Amino acid sequence: MSARPYVLAECTWEALRTQRYEVALLPWGATEAHNRHLPYATDTIQAEQVAIAGAGRAWEHGARVLVLPAVPFGVQTTQREVPFCLNMNPSTQLAVLRDIVHTVAAHGVRKLVIINGHGGNEFKPIIRELQPTAGLLLALVNWWTLAQPARHFAEPGDHAGELETSVMLHLAPHITRPVSEAGPGAARPSVVRGFREGWAWTPRHWVSVTDDTGVGNPAQATREKGAAFFEAVAVQLGEFLVELAAADPAALYA
Ligand SMILES: [Zn+2]
Repeated sequence: MSARPYVLAECTWEALRTQRYEVALLPWGATEAHNRHLPYATDTIQAEQVAIAGAGRAWEHGARVLVLPAVPFGVQTTQREVPFCLNMNPSTQLAVLRDIVHTVAAHGVRKLVIINGHGGNEFKPIIRELQPTAGLLLALVNWWTLAQPARHFAEPGDHAGELETSVMLHLAPHITRPVSEAGPGAARPSVVRGFREGWAWTPRHWVSVTDDTGVGNPAQATREKGAAFFEAVAVQLGEFLVELAAADPAALYA
């Protein structure tokens, strides 16, 4: 058996033909600009590493969980001017998810959790559409909402800010540039009050909003903050997975 029997990419056929899994995790990221200092794979790396860390903790507590390979393509319909922001439309994401769900359901997995790493990926409507015919329970975790970010960061930020920069300094320092090279991640407010106050919504045309592709100030990011937050996220996700693995999908309510 591999050292991490909860990571599909590291498993052999010989191990998988006898092991049963209750919960599958599907990390889903994006390939997009993250200010001047973070790599394009930031959202994918974070989603995948969070999923693996949470699954590892759950596995230690006896939950049979399996992390599927990460999907690196997110919705980038409003970043078309930014070089190589690779767009996957929501309707394509639905088709991709449907195929994966039907495949893992056929092998006895009873629950699938998307670990989402990109704000532009909106999985709720996709899950609502797929759930009736999925053959397993579908769930969603936007990982950056775990572990109360405001307790860890002065200004978590939206995109390539203090939260993401700190986590990348922890997870992937070899491909993260120094914070001194980052732009300020300043976002221009909308001229329309409803959009400014957040009770009305329209997708943000990215290059009109920010000059450095960041939204959120990374200046106070540190590797230590990233490590502490990542650990808290992994613990919370691990506890959720243990509880979910034991739960009966037909009896989720007391
Ligand atoms: Zn990101």
